[in-house]
Order: sequence, then C-alpha cells, then structure tokens
Amino acid sequence: MQVPLIRLQCGVNQYAWGKKGEDSAAAKYAAATPPADFKIESDKPYAELWMGTHPSNPSKDVTTGRTLLDLVEDNQALLSQSVAARYGKKLPFLFKVLSINKALSIQAHPNKKLAEKLHARDPKNYPDDNHKPEMTIAITPFEGLCGFRPLGEIAHFLDNVPSLRQLVGEDVATQFVDTVKRHSDLETHSKGAPSDMKEVLQKAFAAVMSASEDAINSATEKLVADAKSQASSFAGNGVSSTPGSTLSELVTRLHGEFGADYGLFVLFFLNYVVLQPGEAMFLQADDIHAYLSGDVVECMAASDNVVRAGLTPKFKDIDTLVNMLTYNYAPIEEQKMHPSEYPYVTLNRAGYSSGSEVTLYDPPIDEFAVVRTVLRGGGAKATFEQLDGPSIVICTSGKGKISVGPTVQEVQEGYVYFVGATAEVVLESEGGEDDEFITFKAFCEVEDHSNGTGEKL
Ligand SMILES: [Zn+2]
Repeated sequence: MQVPLIRLQCGVNQYAWGKKGEDSAAAKYAAATPPADFKIESDKPYAELWMGTHPSNPSKDVTTGRTLLDLVEDNQALLSQSVAARYGKKLPFLFKVLSINKALSIQAHPNKKLAEKLHARDPKNYPDDNHKPEMTIAITPFEGLCGFRPLGEIAHFLDNVPSLRQLVGEDVATQFVDTVKRHSDLETHSKGAPSDMKEVLQKAFAAVMSASEDAINSATEKLVADAKSQASSFAGNGVSSTPGSTLSELVTRLHGEFGADYGLFVLFFLNYVVLQPGEAMFLQADDIHAYLSGDVVECMAASDNVVRAGLTPKFKDIDTLVNMLTYNYAPIEEQKMHPSEYPYVTLNRAGYSSGSEVTLYDPPIDEFAVVRTVLRGGGAKATFEQLDGPSIVICTSGKGKISVGPTVQEVQEGYVYFVGATAEVVLESEGGEDDEFITFKAFCEVEDHSNGTGEKL
C-alpha cells in the first residue's frame, strides 16, 4: 500500500487582484515546489495557491506527477471509507492561500439549494451545484468586509454621508432611520429583531445595488470629495465601529482601484474587519463579504460558486445577490471565530516549555476544520492522533520535519503535504531559539456515531 504522506506541487493562479512578485505569499509557496517552467515575475500578480483535488487546478504528487485526484480515485483508503462514502472519490474541501493586493469582489456563496438552481440555469457562470461555506485565517494582517453592520451605524451614515443618502433615496433613507429609531434596542443584532428591520435593510441595500450608472458616477464624485474634507462626520462620535479616517482612506483607495463603483457605498453597509495573524472568520452560505488586503489561508467546501456584485471586472449578478442574502447583522466581534485548543495532540517537553501552540478552527459545518500549529524553538514536537479522514498540511513559516510512521520528510516554508487517512503525524521544528515553525492543516473526518473506535466499515 502507498505510504499516506505525499508531497504536493500546487498551482498558483494570476487573478489581477493578487499581490505582485515576491510580495505574494501564494507565489513564494508555489515557488518552493515549482513545476519546470515556473519562475516568479516581479511585475505579475499571484493570487491563489490551490491545494486539493478540484479539477480546475489539481495538485500533483511531486514524485510521480500524478494528480491527487487520480491518486484518491485509485486508492479510497487515502480518504477513509466514511469520507469516500459521504463525499465521493475526492477531497470534500478545497484549501487555498490567498495573497490580496487589491479588493476582491463583493460576493456571497449560494446555499446548496440555490447553487443547484443557479447551476442548472447558468452552468457557465455557476460551474458547481454545491454550496461553499468558507473560513479565512490570517497569515499576515488582513482586512475585509464581512456581514452587515449594526443598523444604528448604517442609520448614522445615512444621516451624515449626503452622497449615500442621495443614492438610497430620501423615502427609503427616512423609512430606514425611523424604523431603526423605533427599535433602537434591537439595532445591534438581527437575532430576535422584528422582520421590518431586515426589510428596511434589504430595501436600502437594494437601492444602492440597483442605482443607475449615472447615479453611481455622480454620487461617487461627491463621496470622494467628502472623504477628503469631511472624514470626521463619517464616524460620528464613536457611533461607527470604523474610525472616520479609516473609512475616508478606504473610499480613496477603492476609488483608485475601481473608479466609480457600488462597492464604495457598500462600505457603509458592511462591517470592516481586521484580522491579526492567527485570527479567523467563518462565512456561512449567503453571507455577504469582500476581501480587501493581506495573506490568508482559506478553506472551503469543494466548489467554485461565487455570486458577485461589485469591485470586480468579472460577471456580476446583482439581482441574485440582493435576493439571496440573509440580511443578518451583528457587531464585528461576532463575525470573528473563536478558535480553541486542539485536544488530540501531544507536545514534547521542548514544545511545552517554549510555549508552542496547537489551535483548532472548527466551523459549524461537516466538510472541514483547520488546525494551526506554531512550534517555537528547535526540537519542539507535536504528535497528532490518527484521523479517520484525509488532511493537507502547508508550512507558512520556518522549517522542520513531518513524519508518518517510518517515513520522514523535510518541511520548509511553502511545502505542502497530503496525509492519508489513519496516519499518525508528527511535526518537529528545526529552527533556532527564536524561530517559529508554523503549519496549517485542513482535514475532514465524518463523525463516527457507532462505538468510537473508528474501526467500522
Ligand atoms: Zn468568498
């Protein structure tokens, strides 16, 4: 039987929003295991490194050149019986590194039912019939937009940003502000709020998204001028969770990247989220979001379905987006995930005493979870218990070793390994005293409801 530890060569794509040349973590990681003709060009963007079995950009076994998809189709034991039975002969998740230089489109990913409908109607723009919940963990400081702001913040902007009010329209804006005032005790969370709160939010958001090009152009001109002179009124006296200077900088920057665009006004509707390295957020199906900058690892259910509506030269489907969204709203802190200590690992003495950490990011879906391991100093070692499912490990910093049974392989920044089901994995750092050996491991395990041994067929 094949040893279930396979070093992978992964492809990086060159979407225009990617960081350029060596600045791109995705490019650097791809260059750690390059195909024969790969060389980083300093003026070219490198956006996404894909790790998995998705046919659009499948990872390959470095030694044999066979695709990972081919390998798991041939040998289902690599996935485990339970994972193959539930998800078929492929990885249930797609793991990526994104290096974001300029904003990615404002988007949401359809739930399973809507994905099936969109795919049947328009297979060219919706290539999969699967849902696509996704989780983002920062490698370098990251900024993005995620979920709707508490409605009190949006009401404040409607009262204080004239170009936004103009775009939404006087009637809708008045109705919005009045409704929020009437329910001021329920303006921070949509949970438990009366349905008219979500209705006015959808109405105001739809008004922006369906504005004519002329209306967007004239409102943008005004907004960009106000951003320079009136930044302070954007934030009010702490009403907005985003400082006025940050909002004004964002308006100026996004205008520089995209010109007149709906996205400049969407800024006032969505939470502006900053993640420090190791911080994460999870996006449910139908949650609106946009990534603005930074390097992240991203894990998602295997799918490539995106409904886009602004800040993009790609296909836009505004009607679908406006109608699919949940219109849930909540403060920023609740958009972030709360990772926990990973229990199924043992650190050696060097690992404990250097303060090494193994952290679990476990979103409320079945297809994947991610473990981040930070081994500090040389000789720190983490031994992971067997998993009844496949995993993919990428190193984002430092160096060390990975072993499965008697097989030991070298790990450096950018190396990617596939680990087959039931393998006991050991990671060991080899750096100096001040070095950190950081890896991310995405995995899937079907919950075993039988007897807990995981040995059933
Ligand atoms: Zn997304």
